[in-house]
Amino acid sequence: MALTRKNFLKYLGLGAAATALSPARAAAGRPAATRALEEMRAVAKTMKIKDIEIYAFDIKLIAPFVISIGRMDSATDVLVRVRTDSGIVGIGEACPFPPITGETQETNIAAARSLRDMFVGKDPLAIEAFVRGAGPIVHTNPSIVAAFDMALYDILGKAAGLPVYRLLGGGDRTRFETDITVSLETPENMAAEAKTYAERGYRTIKVKVGQDVALDAARIKGIREAVGDKVALRIDANQGWTVPQAKDALERLAEFRIQFCEQPVLASDVAGLREVRRESPIPIMADEALFGASDAIRLIREEACDYFNIKLMKAGGIFNSVKIAHIADAADIKCMVGCMLESRLGLTAAAHVVAANANIWFADLDGNAEHVVDPIVDGVKLERDEIVLPDKPGLGCDVDPAFLKKLKKI
Ligand code: MG
Repeated sequence: MALTRKNFLKYLGLGAAATALSPARAAAGRPAATRALEEMRAVAKTMKIKDIEIYAFDIKLIAPFVISIGRMDSATDVLVRVRTDSGIVGIGEACPFPPITGETQETNIAAARSLRDMFVGKDPLAIEAFVRGAGPIVHTNPSIVAAFDMALYDILGKAAGLPVYRLLGGGDRTRFETDITVSLETPENMAAEAKTYAERGYRTIKVKVGQDVALDAARIKGIREAVGDKVALRIDANQGWTVPQAKDALERLAEFRIQFCEQPVLASDVAGLREVRRESPIPIMADEALFGASDAIRLIREEACDYFNIKLMKAGGIFNSVKIAHIADAADIKCMVGCMLESRLGLTAAAHVVAANANIWFADLDGNAEHVVDPIVDGVKLERDEIVLPDKPGLGCDVDPAFLKKLKKI
């Protein structure tokens, strides 16, 4: 299809922007697509944030999500819609996970109000300035910073007419494997759940552990027997073991061929993580010990892990996640991109980061697996156990208007 100006704007979904730009149509004379690009560039140069809508964005879970340090009965998220004076709107999601990041929906909303006050009237494409301007909020409420950050990338992509992963330098990696997670339960129930995932075509299953070592060993033994040899298993202790317990557990679990173990010990105990790693027959991945770029540097310096688990909700969005991925690449540390309990909005943002960084070897993007509803239109699709990226400008997804209408606006 030839890219006419009309089609170009339709592709961007920019009805309002098209109207706003119409006076420039008089300056015709060049091919329509060229004109459209020039007009978009002119808009991008002067675009300002006009308003930021904040919503409580609750999504119930089919079954509680249980890990060694807590449980979640629903995703209590925050949605932001950043509106610009050009008509382009960017969307982002915060998924605060109190047991890990210490935030709640309430603290995220309070921080969102501050960020709104700080950034209305500012340039939405100056993402680096936003991340710096958000300052220490990224330490106390990283998830809401992530929501704003992904909304700005959404605007950038829509203004440029490109999917976010392309703007991050990605090529043709628009499809990649994800695992699915089995949360803590009895060994029998966990084995049965893992078996259904294997039957559904998942090639990799992530299993929560981090409680009593004998119980964890029974869980992994049962799961390995239930899924057979062809399925890869990775485990996540979520800080649940002491250093001696971790050494004991990893020694005992090695026979079940474990790909890696996430965060065996306390996030604050980097020396302990290093000690466990030195003796472990199973590679170690840092998760809760890794929020931002400075944590990445520390973990590398201490030689405390083999892999990183990057999450937008810990790092404070796409900008910081990419920064960590690049630091890791320079240190020859391979990464996973993981998630909390995000909807397909947050998962789509994370998928763009995966698609743009070959150093991200693993993906754990199953945050919405237990959601009662899917409030997102377009965005990433799951085909068997593969995430498929959308081919639309920006993040490439939106909130279902009917669902949005029911949300509480702050
Ligand atoms: Mg983890």
